[in-house]
This record gives sequence, structure tokens and C-alpha cells, in this order.
Amino acid sequence: MKALITGITGFAGSHLADFLIDEEGVEVHGIRRPRSRTEFLRYDVHYHEGDVTDLESLQNICDRVEPNFIFHLAAQSFVPFSWDAAQSTLSTNIIGTLNMLDAACRLPSLRAIHLAGSSEEYGMVDPDECPVTELQPLRPLSPYGVSKVATDLLGQQYQRSYGLNVIITRAFNHTGPRRGEQFVTSKIARQLALIKLGKAEPVLTLGNLEAIRDFTDVRDMIKAYWLAVLHCEPGIPYNIGTGVGHTVEQVVCILEKVSGVKFKLKQDSQFMRPSDVPRLIANSTAFRNATGWRPEIPFEQTLRDLFDYWVERLK
Ligand code: GDP
Repeated sequence: MKALITGITGFAGSHLADFLIDEEGVEVHGIRRPRSRTEFLRYDVHYHEGDVTDLESLQNICDRVEPNFIFHLAAQSFVPFSWDAAQSTLSTNIIGTLNMLDAACRLPSLRAIHLAGSSEEYGMVDPDECPVTELQPLRPLSPYGVSKVATDLLGQQYQRSYGLNVIITRAFNHTGPRRGEQFVTSKIARQLALIKLGKAEPVLTLGNLEAIRDFTDVRDMIKAYWLAVLHCEPGIPYNIGTGVGHTVEQVVCILEKVSGVKFKLKQDSQFMRPSDVPRLIANSTAFRNATGWRPEIPFEQTLRDLFDYWVERLK
């Protein structure tokens, strides 16, 4: 069995590679750009140089590898950057997915292609609409959210038009070791690690502290992706999340306890967004019923592991 991962050098992709390598009989292949990060590369993964915005490179790799499963995780996933660079976000995310779907269509060996959608597709959610099911209207509040709506719909359309086995998930926030330092959980954990190591002033500066998010450990999330390609219906989006919401302020409090660091918390408008999704909490009943998945790692453990990861990297 061969699995091909796009975005394998990134956060979720590298964790998925770690997990699949340990699965019996799975050979792991990954697509990386020549300029991709190298810190999470593994010797036992087969890497292929390519770019999701270049269809020919994807076709060549698919012809060579003949994967049974494709996990399409390559994307520009940082919401604030999607306002500054809307065109490249839409191009990487939408055209990248279109290319991957087109390359997948030519593969007789393929059992399923997984598209990683996002809770950002829901965007504006009223308090009485939480926890959100897949029937919730899609009202994205950022170019990133729009890009993920488009890829979600493309996946549905390719399943209907060509019978391609497209598995679509809408992951709510996920975090853990290796999370990029610009995302809120990592930004807090990294700053507290720097303070702990005596390398930064005891000040933490954030934007919107009231935003509520449903955080899953990345190691639980990538197991969900594997179960998804084995058990989910094609062409139907599935929410994945814990069903529990935390404010950004609560995340700060947990990391304060975990780190044992004392600091001053400041708010700064430069970290506020033109429009921010106020609350996102998942109803993932459909996914749980289809796969038997349950999140296993408690949130405090996730944040502890994230803090330890930053201490280790920064010392
Ligand atoms: P997202 O939900 O995929 O955009 O993940 P993020 O980790 O980037 O942001 C989660 C929430 O934290 C959003 O509501 C942000 O507005 C909020 N937040 C508050 N302060 C910050 C900050 O300094 N950086 C980031 N990235 N998010 C922040």
C-alpha cells in the first residue's frame, strides 16, 4: 500500500508521515518543494520534488509512485496572511487542489484522495448555531476560508462528475509539537519558553483574547485523516473536532500553569484581524459514527507537549 502526502514537510503532514510509517504495510511518499523546510524530514520516507501549483510535476510523481491513497495537505493555512496575500493563497489552495484532483483522476491504483478542509469555511457562526454540524451555512470571513470552501466544493464536484473517491474533512483547529510559531497556541508557548529560558522580557502580546476555538491534538487529527480514507463516504464533508471550546485567554491560563512562568499579558491591535471568527465548536457526530474516532490526548497534555517542544528547540 502506498500513501502520497502533499505538504509533508509541514505541521500536519509531518505528523501524518510519522504515523503512517508505523502502520503495517504502508510505504510513505511525500511531495516537497526544493525550498521546503527540512527539520522534520525522515530517512524512511520517499520524497519527490514537485509543487502543487504545477500540474505536470504532480502527474509525473503520480505516474512514478502509483499511490493508493493521496493526502492533500499542502496549503497556505495562516489566516492573517490570506488578507495580505489573497491571490497566492487562493492560487496555492484552489489551483493546487484542482491540480491534485486532475492528477488523481488518471490513477487506476487510487483508492481515495483526502482533501483537508477547515472549520474556517463556516466563518460567521451565531452563538445558538454551536456546535456546528455539516449542515451549517458556509459564511467564510477570510480569503483562506473562501479558498477552503472552493476546494471542498471542487472535491464534491469531482466525486459527482468523475466518480473519484474524494474524502472531504473539515478539521477544526489542531495544535501540538511543530505548530508554526505564528499560530496562537504556538505563539504563546514559544514566548513563555523564551521567558523561561531567560531569553525574553516577561511580556506576552496578543490580539483577540475572546475568540473561542475547538482544539484537537494534531496526533489525534492525523489518525482521523487515516480513518477517514478507510471508512468515510466520498463526496460528503465531515467535521472533525473535540466538541469543546476554549477562549484564547483560557489557552494563556493553561500555558501559564504548565510553564510556571509569570508574565504580563498585553493586547495589541496589530494582531486583530479585519474580521475574526468569534467561535467555532464542532459537532463531529457523523465522523465519529462513520469511523469510531475519538480524541485521546487531553488539551492540557497537548499544550504541555507544545511548550516542551519550544523549550527544547530554543535552549
Ligand atoms: P485560526 O483559527 O486557524 O486562524 O488559528 P490561529 O491560531 O491563528 O488563531 C486562533 C484565534 O486566536 C483567532 O481567533 C485569532 O484572532 C486569535 N488570536 C489572538 N491573538 C492572536 C495572535 O497574536 N496570533 C494569532 N495567530 N492569533 C491570535
